[in-house]
Formats: sequence, C-alpha cells, structure tokens
Amino acid sequence: MNTNKTYRLVLLGAPGAGKGTQAERLTEKYSVPQISTGVILRAAIEAGTDLGKKVKELIENGKLVPDEDVVAIVGQRIAEKDCENGFILDGFPRTIPQAEALDRLLDENGTALDAVLSIEVKDEDIVTRMSGRRVCKKCGASYHVVYKRPKNGNLCDNCGTELVSREDDKVEVVMGRLEAYHKQTAPLKDYYAAKGLLVTVQGREELADTSAAVDEALKNL
Ligand SMILES: [Zn+2]
Repeated sequence: MNTNKTYRLVLLGAPGAGKGTQAERLTEKYSVPQISTGVILRAAIEAGTDLGKKVKELIENGKLVPDEDVVAIVGQRIAEKDCENGFILDGFPRTIPQAEALDRLLDENGTALDAVLSIEVKDEDIVTRMSGRRVCKKCGASYHVVYKRPKNGNLCDNCGTELVSREDDKVEVVMGRLEAYHKQTAPLKDYYAAKGLLVTVQGREELADTSAAVDEALKNL
C-alpha cells in the first residue's frame, strides 16, 4: 500500500475516558503501531542497549528517566519501518519540553504530527461511571449501580455475595486522578491548539458512538 496519507497521532484522554480502547481500534484501522513509552523502556532494558542499561540504572535508583532519554527512545522507535505511515503515541509527551523535543525529532526526519486527538468526557460522567462500579469479590462479576444493576439489591446475581467498589474506583481517588490529569494536560492542549493540531472529540456513553465521532474527526487528516 502506498498512500501519502499518514497518521502520526498523539492521543490524550483522562483515565476512564476510553482512550485505550480507541488507541487499540485506531491501530488496526490505520495499520500503525501504538507506541507507549512504558513498553519501549521495558523493551530497551530487556534488549540491553546502551540506553536500556542507563534507564535500568536510573529506575533501580528510584530516579526519573530524563526527558532527553525518553525522547531518544521514542526517536528510535518511530524511525522503525512499521511507523512509516504513522503511529499512535500514548502517554507521551506529558510535558511541554517533551512536546517540543518531539517536534524537533520529527522535524529532523522531515515529518510532523498529523493531529493530537483528545477524547473529552465530563469529569462528573467519569466519576459516575467509575464510582458506580461494583464487583463481586467471590466470582469476579462486575456491575454498575446505573448501567448494569444487580437484580437483587447489592448482591451478586451469580453467587449472592455482597458487592463492593474497588479502592481505585472510589470517588475521591477518581477525582484526584482527574485533577492531576487536567493539570498536566491543559498546557499540552494549549500548545497543540496553537499549532492547529488539536482535535477534540466528545467521548460518549456508547463505545460505537465515540468510535464514530473519532473517525469523523480524523476523516479529513
Ligand atoms: Zn459473585
């Protein structure tokens, strides 16, 4: 296949907004790899490259991997053959310096990002979605107080065990994560909006609706 169309995308989305699902879907749709820095760092360590060795030492000493190294690792990854028509960056860049470094990196290779897709879901909806989840500790069945109610009060349909919410799904925990996300992402969104790259899509309750909105938004790349 030799089209000039490329899909060099950065994906943004709060925890619980359905970013992972869309990343997976777009990967298949556009035949481009999803690039997660966490995965690459682990692979570099396993492969024992110079960079991998350095990263390993940093992590073992409880230190953060410096931007320049993360960027170098991303640079090596996107130079690989399977990124010819694009890639979906997930979890990178997280900061303005990283975003600037990514721009330089792409520029040196004569390319640029095609779009930065932000999947937006109202905080209150994410909180409702996540804080309403209930699980059965005994059989693992999952429920939702609004979207998938157990038939009998707060008891598991399968085994009658009392349902609980996961620690991670508690309102305060979800809100804390959302706050951290917005604080970190707002400057990035401004940065990409100023470059005319930011595409925002309203995440919907139904997965198919979100997918359709994403496809529509990326149609004219
Ligand atoms: Zn159960």
